[in-house]
Amino acid sequence: MNTLTRHIQLLYQLIYNNSKLQSLVTVETLLEFNQNQAQYKIESFTLGSTNPTSPTFFIVGGIHGLERIGAELCCSLLNSILNRVLWDKTLQHILKNIRMIFIPFANPYGFVNYSRCNKNGVDLMRNSPVDAEEKVPFLLGGQRYSSRLPWYRGQPGIIEDENMAIINKFFNSCSESKCVISLDLHSGFGFRDRLWFPYSKTKKPFEHLPEMHFFTQLFESTHPYHVYCIEPQSYGYLLNGDLWDYIYLEFLRKNKNTYLPLTLEMGSWIWVKKNPLQIISKHGMFNPIKDHRIKRTFRRHHILFDFIIKSLYSFESWSCLNEIERQNHFHHSLDTWYGKN
Ligand SMILES: [Zn+2]
Repeated sequence: MNTLTRHIQLLYQLIYNNSKLQSLVTVETLLEFNQNQAQYKIESFTLGSTNPTSPTFFIVGGIHGLERIGAELCCSLLNSILNRVLWDKTLQHILKNIRMIFIPFANPYGFVNYSRCNKNGVDLMRNSPVDAEEKVPFLLGGQRYSSRLPWYRGQPGIIEDENMAIINKFFNSCSESKCVISLDLHSGFGFRDRLWFPYSKTKKPFEHLPEMHFFTQLFESTHPYHVYCIEPQSYGYLLNGDLWDYIYLEFLRKNKNTYLPLTLEMGSWIWVKKNPLQIISKHGMFNPIKDHRIKRTFRRHHILFDFIIKSLYSFESWSCLNEIERQNHFHHSLDTWYGKN
């Protein structure tokens, strides 16, 4: 049994050994394929309102198979929700009004084989049809030279099956939602945990910047000692083919409501600094190795996770702004995030 199967088995055991959970959770296979005699699956776990207009929280882990802590954090958050929903009346009430979708292993081949890319050597976070509008870093910003080099975008015009599975699930669940927040879990270089919002394709502001600003204000006033550096993804680097840029732009064409596509980039240098020997392994560069650090990582993000759930339940408080309020937040957000441009 590989590590991915073990994680999924634990979730299955929890769900299928409890008749109440069986009625509350829908497990769906979004993609199934065989590679080198092994079978791989992308599965989604859905809880909450079935009303298509309900606000939706869409959580994805493991797009980069090497960044295993993202997939494991997604499982840990799902596990917590599955246990809580059995007794917590506030959560039961919230889930009558919002929907939650978890896709812990978006790149199952990458997770099992310790690879950033999928089975075709494609970096799924460089594979969407969106091209950057400004200059991207050489190779890192996405390249079409070869799958033997890192950050390969794949063939032009071809969206990889794993990304299609995520895109289809997203639009089946969110097309009519009154408010959507997605959270994509990654780990990478840097000492801080960064919460990124669009765009990756440009340094220009995205359409829901006023709502992002208000959301951030509420988060910071509610949790003044939070650990995140909240900023546009373009502060890090610009990218070709960012999946969330693509999903966001498609969403804008179908739905006029607020959508905040967030990426959590957990700063892996903290783990490397505390345990320098782990840098000699590919796995160690992106993941905590020691048990207490893994547990700390699982604990660390509950504040954000709960805040997003509550902010979706209370979406009218911050995401339905009038024009004057939008202008106001827009100007403040330019000062906060775009002053340096
Ligand atoms: Zn990543």
